[in-house]
Amino acid sequence: MTRPPALKAKASILFAMPLPEPFDYAVPEGMELRVGDHVRAPLGPRSARGVVWALSADDGSRNLKSVESVYDCPPLSDAMREFIDWSAKYLVQLPGIMLRNVLRSEDTLLPSPTELLFEASGMEPDRMTDSRRKVLDVVAEHGPDSAAELARLAGVTPGVVTGLVKAGGLNRIERPADPPFDPPDPERPGVELVPQQADAAEQLKRMVSAGGFQAALLDGVTGSGKTEVYFEAIAHALREDPDAQILVLLPEIALTRAVTARFILRFGAEPAVWHSDQGHKERRRIWREVNENRARIVIGARSALFLPFQNLRLIIVDEEHDATYKQGDGLHYQARDLAVVRARASKAAIVLASATPSIETLANARTGRYAHIHLPDRIGKAVLPDVTTIDLREHRPARGLWLSDPLVDAMAETLQRHEQVLLYLNRRGYAPLVLCRDCGHKMKSPEVDAFLTEHRYTGRLICHLTGFSMPRPEKCPECGAIDSLTSVGPGVERVAEEARARFPNARVEILSSDTAHSAEALLSLIDRMERGEIDILVGTQIAAKGHNFPNLTLIGVVDADLGLAGGDPRAGERTYQTLVQVAGRAGRAERPGRALLQTHDPDHDAIAALVAGDRDRFMETETMAREVLGLPPFGRLAAIIISSKDVYQADDEAKKWAKRAPDAEGVTIWGPAEPRYGMVRGWHRRRLLVRGERDVDISAYVTAWKRRMKPPAGVRITIDIEPYSF
Ligand code: ADP
Repeated sequence: MTRPPALKAKASILFAMPLPEPFDYAVPEGMELRVGDHVRAPLGPRSARGVVWALSADDGSRNLKSVESVYDCPPLSDAMREFIDWSAKYLVQLPGIMLRNVLRSEDTLLPSPTELLFEASGMEPDRMTDSRRKVLDVVAEHGPDSAAELARLAGVTPGVVTGLVKAGGLNRIERPADPPFDPPDPERPGVELVPQQADAAEQLKRMVSAGGFQAALLDGVTGSGKTEVYFEAIAHALREDPDAQILVLLPEIALTRAVTARFILRFGAEPAVWHSDQGHKERRRIWREVNENRARIVIGARSALFLPFQNLRLIIVDEEHDATYKQGDGLHYQARDLAVVRARASKAAIVLASATPSIETLANARTGRYAHIHLPDRIGKAVLPDVTTIDLREHRPARGLWLSDPLVDAMAETLQRHEQVLLYLNRRGYAPLVLCRDCGHKMKSPEVDAFLTEHRYTGRLICHLTGFSMPRPEKCPECGAIDSLTSVGPGVERVAEEARARFPNARVEILSSDTAHSAEALLSLIDRMERGEIDILVGTQIAAKGHNFPNLTLIGVVDADLGLAGGDPRAGERTYQTLVQVAGRAGRAERPGRALLQTHDPDHDAIAALVAGDRDRFMETETMAREVLGLPPFGRLAAIIISSKDVYQADDEAKKWAKRAPDAEGVTIWGPAEPRYGMVRGWHRRRLLVRGERDVDISAYVTAWKRRMKPPAGVRITIDIEPYSF
């Protein structure tokens, strides 16, 4: 007679892969497993990394494979697993894809590596050679580093470094490759808050102390001291719980530099800074330090949301209205919204800060879901800049020029007072279009339905969507005419050219992602602007956000209408927000600032509201327009993008989807239609829009729809919940 097997445990393991659900494995005898543990388990011919999603009794009815091994590190928190499950459902993604975003690379959990560095030590002078001297000079200036790096910096072979060790000129030192972050000190004094700041900070502190999920909108004009206010909330969270972790989301890497410096001043320690431009090593370090609950404050771009915090107490989303929070590539998500989900799962507080909150957030504040905290005034003597328009229909610059007379006069006055000017134009390069005067041919990207932008510095035509680039041709590729290609419209390079021509003595620089191609280049431009070494800065949106230039008193918006065109229902809101941010760069210290907007349409709601300084009325009108259309937050919206390399297949499949859309009350399907970019990198795209009434669970609807469909090979389906452009 056989005895029934002893009750054993089985583990459901979610792999960081596009699989439909967690798989069951037997827990081998002697293996202690907790829910959330990181494990390896056999999957197909190999083994893979996954996370224990659930544990239950194994009745032995199935012959399960066993978990292979457990990583020696803290388990993924319950809050994190809840966040993954919830956001997967909401975004209509497989949970394994969300988990892949969290776990990142394979090596995040391997034992912490050490690295071998070389530091200087005394050496007999007679053993010195030229190349050895070069290496020692590098060490003296740059500090200890690996043999390969020292050799590279000194321009010698790595053998020289090893030779130096033998000769006694260098010592080996070994240290962990992932050094921990110093803990922040909440007791260091911050600036003395003005009364409106102190009130706001008090409200945030109460919210942090109350515990549980709480959200607040910190709604303060540019320069009202919002950062200092949320610093207080962070200090408070750390005082209440020294193990608290805090996440600060920023829309641009460009801003992290300045904010990091302020953090160091305030908390006496470097925060962990997370963004996509970082090296793999630094990211592994941050991931681990966050996972071990040693990194207290993390400042990051939107993907920092997926870091494995163990004790997240407070999230700050700065410039919450910013469109860059919407990730539109690969996994589509709105980081501000997911941050709220994350806070809810973690029972943490969240602060959304902005001078121009989004309609969505304002609506939440209005219904009382979020506390609404106001900072109506700028700090100290600084006042909000005076905004006026220049009607380009009256003050039309000469052909091929872009700065109107009133703007040029204002620039001259400003420069005479030794103050600085920012010319804002959100267009990289020299000209957004190059066309042939003879045949009218327009230079287009071969892979996308978009024009090529001319860049004079590099002498190339570049596609800003795919990165395709080519030298500017001498002949028209269509008709062969020589010297017939002409540049149409301005980019920042062209405006800078004009500024230089008009003010030959002024120091003119460009701030765009081309000139700020690296963190150092960006920092150096910002430093020089702060030190007054630049008179006229011509910048794209990188220049518009967050910076504090005390001597900047004039903003010239070259084309205030840019952004208002097109079918994007958020265009008005976004233009308004951007222009408030740009204008907000001026007059941040004692000297008053002004902003001049060149426009063809001074009566446009967004522009008129800016001049009148009447944000609330403008937002009300915009909100009503959205309500009438039933767009978010007054209705639900989802996009289904169907793409194929074969245009007929894309069309066919899109029609099939439209035909098989489930019937549901309160849901309307629009399309299929060709989206703004009908072809990207050789993929033809068709789009269906799903609009639902406010109480429709649009994710569930799209999930059900997707289940009905079996897209053939060669077809890609992308789901975008609450798409931004359509
Ligand atoms: P916001 O984020 O609202 O634009 P910041 O927090 O960047 O504003 O503050 C604007 C400027 O005012 C910064 O230079 C900041 O250091 C300074 N500042 C803020 N609060 C105070 C204060 N209470 N006393 C003195 N300076 C302050």
